[in-house]
Amino acid sequence: MTTTFDLAVVGGGIAGLAHAHAAARLGKRVVVIDREPQLTGASVRGYGLNLLTGQQRGISWQRARRSREILLEIAHDSGIAVEPRGMMTVALRPEGLGLCESFQATEMGEGCQMLTAAAARKRLPALKGDDVLGALWSPHELRYDPRAFAAAFARWLGEAHKVQFMRGVHVRSVFPSRIDSSAGPVRAETVIVCPGEELLTLFAHRIAHYRLTRCRVQMLRLAPGTRLRLPYAVQSDLGLLACPGFADLPEARDLAVRLSSERHELAPPTVRMLAVQNTDRTVTVGDSRLTAPAPDAFVPSTGEGHILDEFDQLFDVPERTVIERWTGVHLVADRPLIIDQPGGSLRLVMVTGSFGASAAFAIAEDVVADLFGSVTAGAAR
Ligand SMILES: Cc1cc2nc3c(=O)[nH]c(=O)nc-3n(C[C@H](O)[C@H](O)[C@H](O)COP(=O)(O)OP(=O)(O)OC[C@H]3O[C@@H](n4cnc5c(N)ncnc54)[C@H](O)[C@@H]3O)c2cc1C
Repeated sequence: MTTTFDLAVVGGGIAGLAHAHAAARLGKRVVVIDREPQLTGASVRGYGLNLLTGQQRGISWQRARRSREILLEIAHDSGIAVEPRGMMTVALRPEGLGLCESFQATEMGEGCQMLTAAAARKRLPALKGDDVLGALWSPHELRYDPRAFAAAFARWLGEAHKVQFMRGVHVRSVFPSRIDSSAGPVRAETVIVCPGEELLTLFAHRIAHYRLTRCRVQMLRLAPGTRLRLPYAVQSDLGLLACPGFADLPEARDLAVRLSSERHELAPPTVRMLAVQNTDRTVTVGDSRLTAPAPDAFVPSTGEGHILDEFDQLFDVPERTVIERWTGVHLVADRPLIIDQPGGSLRLVMVTGSFGASAAFAIAEDVVADLFGSVTAGAAR
């Protein structure tokens, strides 16, 4: 390829595609390079939730809000299905209810609403009555099918924005204006590297400085329940301590004490129950997590047992059958985002945490604005 691109993006997951989109919108000539022939990373393994409720207070929450706006614009322009679903956080424990109430009283609770148990069941008839104490309703969450979204988004970027894709191409090293790849050199004025959990190939010495580790997440897919209808994402209070927007509130301490008395073997792995229904009515449910630099490949069945016990406490689905199991890996760090600048025209961008994709579009907008300034669409050509 002899073209000199304005931008080469290394890594074609959600983070890489978001950067490609932000630059293409400015009229830049963009190439995306990924070593996999088709995406297999964290971006296709998740819930597909653009999540606000539980993002870290402050900049992460604001980025998720801005990402929501951009995602809706993409859906509008491309026709890719992104549904405004919302999320119900169901309290099964008094301490979880207290934490939901405290959350709702913060600025992050804007637009959210506390529901009594009866109101929660009215809104979500699939909920079992017995143990529900109340719920926090959020209208903010968007949902897309993660298995289809990245491929459809990439296709649309190619068709509508002339973004080029080099798939099955491994990038060995990156220099200012030049990339050394398994398909030969690629010339680009600027390069953004979004390598996901790959920590050793590019800028390994700089990445090491951030003391990143990995989290292996186990997920399940349930057969379509004949009766179960989940128009929203639904989580129980079991997983709130894994969400910084909840866990950083003082009332989280009471829930932590409660959970440690309930399930002594919780940490590690830690467990949450979050369920989203897919258009074929199967239900994606997660998750149990193990954080380690190189998480073991073998997943104990205890995590799955905890997830399903909690699911059964919320929903009465006698015919529930697990039809798929998989794991995914996301990065863990002491910060939600890493933006490094190995050179004037080079950026290394890594999102961390279990809902990192939810901030990706806003991050990309900032990174691209920093690299290119505010150029109007088409002005670069
Ligand atoms: C089970 C699970 C569920 C999740 N659910 C959600 C959710 O519902 N909502 C949410 O917001 N977040 C969720 N997350 C987090 C989210 O998936 C990640 O934050 C996000 O996908 C990271 O995107 P990425 O593009 O950085 O990484 P990836 O999707 O891993 O993409 C990185 C890409 O870079 C490529 N690459 C790396 N090095 C090279 C190289 N040298 N040359 C060429 N290519 C290279 C890889 O092949 C890969 O395709 C979830 C994570 C997991 C594990």
